[in-house]
Amino acid sequence: MAKKQKVIVVGAGPVGSLAALYAANRGDNVEIYELRSDLRDPSTTPLNFTKSINLALSERGINAMRHAGQPKLIEHVMGATIPMRGRMIHGRRANGELYEEGQDYDVHGRSILAIDRGGLNKRLLDILESMPNVKFFFSHKLTGANFKKNKAWFEVRENGPSKEDQQTREVEVDFDLMLGADGAHSAVRYHLMKYTHMDYQQVYIDAMWCEFQIQPKKTAPDASLMSKFVISPNHLHIWPGREFMFIAIPSDDGSFTCTLFAPGSLFSHLESDPTGSLIAPFFDKHFPGVTALIPPTDLIASFHRNPHLPLISIKCSPYHFGSSVVILGDAAHAMVPFYGQGMNAGLEDVRILFDVLDKHARMDELAAGADPASSRAHALAEYTAVRQPDAHAINDLALQNYVEMRASVLSPAYRLRKFLEEA
Ligand code: FAD
Repeated sequence: MAKKQKVIVVGAGPVGSLAALYAANRGDNVEIYELRSDLRDPSTTPLNFTKSINLALSERGINAMRHAGQPKLIEHVMGATIPMRGRMIHGRRANGELYEEGQDYDVHGRSILAIDRGGLNKRLLDILESMPNVKFFFSHKLTGANFKKNKAWFEVRENGPSKEDQQTREVEVDFDLMLGADGAHSAVRYHLMKYTHMDYQQVYIDAMWCEFQIQPKKTAPDASLMSKFVISPNHLHIWPGREFMFIAIPSDDGSFTCTLFAPGSLFSHLESDPTGSLIAPFFDKHFPGVTALIPPTDLIASFHRNPHLPLISIKCSPYHFGSSVVILGDAAHAMVPFYGQGMNAGLEDVRILFDVLDKHARMDELAAGADPASSRAHALAEYTAVRQPDAHAINDLALQNYVEMRASVLSPAYRLRKFLEEA
């Protein structure tokens, strides 16, 4: 049995929440520090300032949740997913006719699953809340850390009656182990860099993204969920445009969350007319059929209302320092979303980290009198060594898959290869 330690988790996104669950399950005293207020509070601004995003959940992420020691978690998560068995490519033939072409992901019919990131995150927080050894600290922003003295400092935002009355104060927290899961712009990583010789690479690719919605069909109140979808619910829909693309992922209310990915120059071009007059003709030309699914007024409104966000790819190494800190998820390896693996890889980080921590803790128990900090230090070093090559590989695959999704799926050579693979 692993020794009780104080674990603080920075960031209550999907990865930090799952990491907190693993730590709490092994009996550690867990404190979760999150910059924003509680995600489950309707007044909390969601990440990226939009409703939420739909993600592709795959075996990598499911397996990590399966090992979290909470059978109800996986039951609930699977119940809120929609299987996507392949891509559906949308296009227009030379004669002007619209077509759809299904491309299954797997010859055995296995699927990836569409899930709402916010819903998954809330479920993890609900389970954590029911555990006696877990404490939440929302509206706490990590501002400093000393990884030799195992101390961290947080700025606490306290709500006054109005925005102007908001006060901040600083608190000091000590810990045995800090798990940094505070996303792509990680403050934990920033402080970790002062303690270790970290190699670090950050790339903004020339693509921005913006969200749109395809609304569900208007149906009778007792209609089935499946009858609400206006296009196949069991596919990830792609309108490839070679230099840009539009995708749609099903949601469990019959709608689709859609994303335009395009170079910054194209966004600037579409923004150049404030009336939005360039938007519908652009969609008609490059994403045939979309204006029949999203009325042009909604397209224009979403384009103006929703943020236009950049895409970042980050690689770094090592992920830890001594026995006191390790970074996970986007904090360690933010990647572009085209392989659908950012969150999945982050959840897998958690499973692998705790496998290694538990292995070293068991060895520590066998060696009477061994120092738990030294077993943690060995575990964290092994974690970096094992995880870094895989995380870098997934980052590279994600970058390559942008070309596949927006262009290669259209090429005759690609189709021939797929045909031969499946024959
Ligand atoms: P985050 O979700 O970023 O959470 C970090 C948390 O830390 C936040 O709650 C933040 O408020 C908090 N925080 C930040 N700074 C501090 C601080 N100083 N102190 C305290 N707390 C702090 N992944 C997939 O697996 N499949 C997909 O299909 C997929 N599609 C995507 C589509 C798009 C358009 C995008 C942008 C991403 C997609 N991803 C996908 C990636 C996925 O969203 C991320 O990999 C995942 O959210 C990372 O989780 P995380 O918990 O590591 O970080």
